[in-house]
Amino acid sequence: MSDVNQVIIIGSGPAGYTAGLYASRAMLNPILFAGYASGGQLMLTSDIENFPGYPEGIGGPEMMMQLREQSRRFGTQIIDKNVDSVDFSSNPFEVKVGKESHLAKSVIICTGAEAIWLDAGDENLYKGQGISTCATCDGAFFRDKEVIVVGGGDSAMEEATFLTRFCSKVTIVHRREGLRASQIMSDRAKENKKIVWKLNRSVKSWLGSEGNFGGAILVDTKTGEEEEYSCDGAFIAIGHKPITNFLNNQVETDEHGYIVWKENSMTSIPGVFAAGDVVDTRYRQAITAAGMGCMAAMDAEKWLEENSH
Ligand code: NAP
Repeated sequence: MSDVNQVIIIGSGPAGYTAGLYASRAMLNPILFAGYASGGQLMLTSDIENFPGYPEGIGGPEMMMQLREQSRRFGTQIIDKNVDSVDFSSNPFEVKVGKESHLAKSVIICTGAEAIWLDAGDENLYKGQGISTCATCDGAFFRDKEVIVVGGGDSAMEEATFLTRFCSKVTIVHRREGLRASQIMSDRAKENKKIVWKLNRSVKSWLGSEGNFGGAILVDTKTGEEEEYSCDGAFIAIGHKPITNFLNNQVETDEHGYIVWKENSMTSIPGVFAAGDVVDTRYRQAITAAGMGCMAAMDAEKWLEENSH
């Protein structure tokens, strides 16, 4: 058992590091568990062009290293280990990391969300190199190119519609005839002349040669017939899932598993805060996650002040 810390931050995307920055500047001596693969989803993004302050853009991994250093500079203790479980049944809270157990009066959860990948053949070869899960991040790299978007929900409609700003042709590949997307989002996509449809199709595997992405083998889900479909890129938009398994249902979530804010950035458990994509079903941007990390650290500081025992 360790001493009782003021704040433990779990997660190392923009929300976690910003929470660390604010908490350390508030002299709360935060410990931040960054996970074995620190940096979050932005480690998969080649260039970030929409984070204010970088007029020339910045690489995702490079930005995360800078946020990490900035957070560390003021005293955040960063530990590159995964949190396995937590016990929020009484305060101080317990955060379990392997065989170690860490105690804290407050916890900020910034574990983010992960895009659900398709797991079609050869997907790992082209992740971030032709196949993306974020049109806002990577769409501009496909100017005048042909891409496919996989999925039939609102995310797929939104991503496809957004991509038509850059791409010459966007093909929506959906495994059924009917769309899951709302009427308004479906109609908007259907009215868009740059969007073509491959319904009743699933992706069997991705194509390419010498590391260059080249398209997909599509399978007709009714007849089983296969076709090679050439394109320059693919966007998978079949949903996201928040990373909350380690919480073991101790914090209230919505029906999709996202943590719910109860009072400002505080969760259903007083003293436990959440920030970034683990609460965000709407914006999912690096800048909004960073903003929420700031909010959670300020809320934690105030809560600790009011509840010091
Ligand atoms: P979703 O509604 O769950 O839709 C996922 C889509 O991906 C479905 O069409 C599903 O097909 C397909 N899919 C799932 N697994 C697949 C697989 N393994 N292979 C092929 N296709 C697969 O997810 P979402 O579109 O990300 O939306 C999530 C929530 O956010 C929804 O409530 C949505 O309304 C909301 N949202 C809102 C907006 C907006 O209003 N601006 C934008 C984005 C998202 P089936 O239909 O066959 O199951």
